[in-house]
Amino acid sequence: MRVKITLACTECKQRNYDTTKEKKNHPDRMETMKYCKFCKKHTLHRETK
Ligand SMILES: [Zn+2]
Repeated sequence: MRVKITLACTECKQRNYDTTKEKKNHPDRMETMKYCKFCKKHTLHRETK
C-alpha cells in the first residue's frame, strides 16, 4: 500500500519533494538525505503532512 508524502528540508523548511512510500516499510515519519536547492546542499528531509 503506497501513500503520498511530502518531504520538507529540516533546515529551511521548504517542501522540496512529493513522493510515495510503502507504509508497511515506513510506518513512522520518513527521513532521508536529499538535495535542497534553497540550501544549495544535501540536507535532511522529513516527511510532512
Ligand atoms: Zn533547505
